[in-house]
Amino acid sequence: MRSLVLIGHGSHLNSESASAVYRYAELLREKGTFDEVIEGYWKEEPSLRQVLRTVSFTDVTVIPMFISEGYFTETVIPRELGLGHQGPVPKDGIARVIGGRTVRYTLPYGVHPAMSDVILDRAREACPDLDGKDTALVIIGHGTTRNANSSRVVYENADRIRAMGIFSEVSALFLDEDPRLSTWPDVTTSPRVVMVPFFASEGWHTLETIPDDLGLTGPVSELEGRVVYYAKPTGTHPKVADVISNLAEEARGASPRGGELDGGHEAAWQAFEAKASLGLRMGEILITPHDGLFEVRHALDEGRDFLKTYVTPEGLRDVVREDERGEQRPIRTLRSLPRGWRGVFDRANLRRAVHFLYPAVVEESFACSSHALHWTPWATTARRQTGIYAKVASAKPDLVASVSKEVCGSCLRTRLWAGEKLPKTFFDGVPGALPCAEACTLLVAEVREAMSSKGKAAGHH
Ligand code: SF4
Repeated sequence: MRSLVLIGHGSHLNSESASAVYRYAELLREKGTFDEVIEGYWKEEPSLRQVLRTVSFTDVTVIPMFISEGYFTETVIPRELGLGHQGPVPKDGIARVIGGRTVRYTLPYGVHPAMSDVILDRAREACPDLDGKDTALVIIGHGTTRNANSSRVVYENADRIRAMGIFSEVSALFLDEDPRLSTWPDVTTSPRVVMVPFFASEGWHTLETIPDDLGLTGPVSELEGRVVYYAKPTGTHPKVADVISNLAEEARGASPRGGELDGGHEAAWQAFEAKASLGLRMGEILITPHDGLFEVRHALDEGRDFLKTYVTPEGLRDVVREDERGEQRPIRTLRSLPRGWRGVFDRANLRRAVHFLYPAVVEESFACSSHALHWTPWATTARRQTGIYAKVASAKPDLVASVSKEVCGSCLRTRLWAGEKLPKTFFDGVPGALPCAEACTLLVAEVREAMSSKGKAAGHH
């Protein structure tokens, strides 16, 4: 039995970033290669720190859903997952035993050689009567002078496709580094030019920056006396799901190194199901058993009729990602669960629905009730931060306390990491008692923000 974990960046502010990861998770669930497919995020829940606690099986493959190697795939994700590795990831990935699970961490999907086929597919979609003799291919990368990896993957694809001899010319051009996209009329000579953006998702760059810079008039434009075909981004192609499966299969070769053991995932869910079959309140939700099924709703909607009914965990997931004002809920235990819905699930789907509603809360609360939850003090979390967040390590305790009072004040969880005690959890009949074992990324980001604005304010005086 194998678990697949897809890691996305996510965002504290909008749910778009997570959507691409959800879509691939769904495609891979349908393919059925893995017994379970879970998503984890840097800026949303389940967080990178929690996600390994939420997997059911001991054979776990973790794939970063990024288009190229870089800071997140080499530094942030390995650090937060506790892989004991920093820096470039070898071709066949990294394998570790963590908490009794064999965890295989792969390269990001974007660097897999099969992405060249995805680029070709995108080119053929944009220009169905593609004729190699008179057609140039331009692969558009983002590029950044800060990290050579970002452009390397684009050059590698250009080399691979050039060697296939399908196009008269193949070029790699970039938005943020040389050679720039604007040089396309000089670097290509063919009368027809197919442009394929090597981007993870459809967004600001693919929909606005690139078309505006090029002066495109539609999917097919006449520019500089040539016909330019503009393709959809590579990252949204359904074939990416196959690329991910291939990556996961290849990662099986990597053999693990030892590490500490723990357990309890299955025990936590069985204890949860035993409680749920008697009726259970957990956080803001109410679970009621009905003829072998379970009904889940907001506890304040108890007894209300005419609630919108969801029968798939995914349907419910999309509802609880935003509050009633349409704002993103990066931390799912914020007291802003929208009302007006109900979910009806069998036992297996109940697990998934609760995982989407409150990621990692069952596992962590069960561990807390059994006095087995390890918590991490603020100083450790702060010291672990890198990049723009590294400075939170020097935040004054009173600043952390005041920011935390504000942020955590609207969260259901009790801050064990700040010395608060939680003798009972919802498992012991206290619905709102959910543990917080470690400061979340929202709090880290807010502390950083507070330090920056304080610094700015001080600079004014
Ligand atoms: S740090 Fe605060 S806001 Fe974040 S999960 Fe914990 S209690 Fe909630």
